[in-house]
Amino acid sequence: MIVNTLNKIAVKCSECGKYTVADLNLFKLKVPTNVMCECGNSIFKVYIKDNKLIINISCIACDDNHSYIFNVKDIIKKQLLILSCPVTGMEIAFLGKGDYVDKVVDRYMVDMYELLNYLGIIDKKENRIVK
Ligand SMILES: [Zn+2]
Ligand SMILES: [Zn+2]
Repeated sequence: MIVNTLNKIAVKCSECGKYTVADLNLFKLKVPTNVMCECGNSIFKVYIKDNKLIINISCIACDDNHSYIFNVKDIIKKQLLILSCPVTGMEIAFLGKGDYVDKVVDRYMVDMYELLNYLGIIDKKENRIVK
């Protein structure tokens, strides 16, 4: 059996609101990995302990830190998991197969720009800074 380990995680930065997509190599996470946003903010920490994947996220919605724990074998099976803030219900991270994560982040980026456009913060999609 070939195990697909091409997992990715996308987390929304609590400082600048941008998604950072990182590879999730399930065989290399015995050592805790800190992932930084390109704005310099430390957005999440991820590691594996006792076959559990543990993710600590600095939450954009409530300014708190949340820990999410998954079974590694569930991560391998599932195509996409959505992580929400337990306080506000806001979706703050996605993890799963690389292609799905990329697609979801794309969709959310578009939605975010539509919202900003609607609010008059930006006026044209061509003015996108991201991507
Ligand atoms: Zn940032
Ligand atoms: Zn939260």
